[in-house]
Amino acid sequence: MAEVLVLVDHLEGEIKKSTYELLTAARTLGEPSAVVVGAAGTAAKLADGLAGHGAEKIYVAETDDASFLTPEVSVLASLVESASPAAVLIAVTPDGKEIAGRLAVRTNSAWLNDVVAIAGDGVTHSVFGGAFVAEAKANTEHPVITLRPGSVDIEPTAGAGAQETVTVTVDGRNATVTSREPIVGGDRPELTEASVVVSGGRGVGSADDFGVVEGLADTLGAAVGASRAAVDSGYYPHQFQVGQTGKTVSPQLYIALGISGAIQHRAGMQTSKTIIAVNKDAEAPIFEIADFGVVGDLFTVAPQLKDEIAKRK
Ligand code: FAD
Repeated sequence: MAEVLVLVDHLEGEIKKSTYELLTAARTLGEPSAVVVGAAGTAAKLADGLAGHGAEKIYVAETDDASFLTPEVSVLASLVESASPAAVLIAVTPDGKEIAGRLAVRTNSAWLNDVVAIAGDGVTHSVFGGAFVAEAKANTEHPVITLRPGSVDIEPTAGAGAQETVTVTVDGRNATVTSREPIVGGDRPELTEASVVVSGGRGVGSADDFGVVEGLADTLGAAVGASRAAVDSGYYPHQFQVGQTGKTVSPQLYIALGISGAIQHRAGMQTSKTIIAVNKDAEAPIFEIADFGVVGDLFTVAPQLKDEIAKRK
């Protein structure tokens, strides 16, 4: 059976949930091999966490050169050449998309982006800002497929997996990082990984009032998101923007507070499993995709919701 390379998405020593989704999806295409790339002393440690998810082989590549931009591209490109995999699977994240684009060019492969399902030799992906889904097939060998986090249910395997660990050398640098700026996210879960997201829109009205959104999020252990109008108005930082020009999320529960539901916002959240909208305008388009809707003032509804949830804890 053909090998399928899965790039392990990890942060601060933890494997992200999206990696297990990739490993589950990879099994429909062939035999998954996990590829872990990280700073010296960090990547090899993650191999144990991959057991039970079907990776027969784990490629480990470590580098202590912090100025190496996306070493994943070099590692994956050399593995594409040596292993000739059926496909390379990467999570849809800002880094994942950068790696996928560079890798596709480097290996002369098709890139199928924002995929929400893989079946047989084809994929379903979300196009035109989520307005349509399209069925697609790559016409090249070893296509690069970026899978939207949250679109596949994780299915662990019965066997231990991970029979073999192979060390890969990191080389072939063609771009250098000159500075890095940490993104401050606080103690809340990472937006694209969170199983619950509470987002605020222009209806929140000010940066100070975003405390209402944060308060509800904290009661639920959720990540906080924002619409572009909220970001552009300076209510919340851009790194939390959900939508076509922000992040794509697909949590179990998405709560939209004071968000009208423009197509560009929906593009980033409409695959959420359950959507709750609170808006004082009963005609707001967000209600077209909401599973539950409350027509009301968010400053009344959100605190009530928060108190009810807190009582039940
Ligand atoms: P509005 O559309 O102004 O809606 C505010 C809502 O709040 C209204 O429905 C109102 O009834 C409700 N409201 C007001 N007060 C209250 C209250 N007290 N209680 C309850 N409800 C209340 N947008 C994104 O979000 N993400 C993107 O990535 C994105 N990318 C874009 C890319 C392009 C190329 C373009 C052209 C636009 C993009 N946009 C994006 C902008 C998008 O078109 C909308 O303008 C934006 O999503 C609107 O944000 P909003 O719903 O917060 O604001």
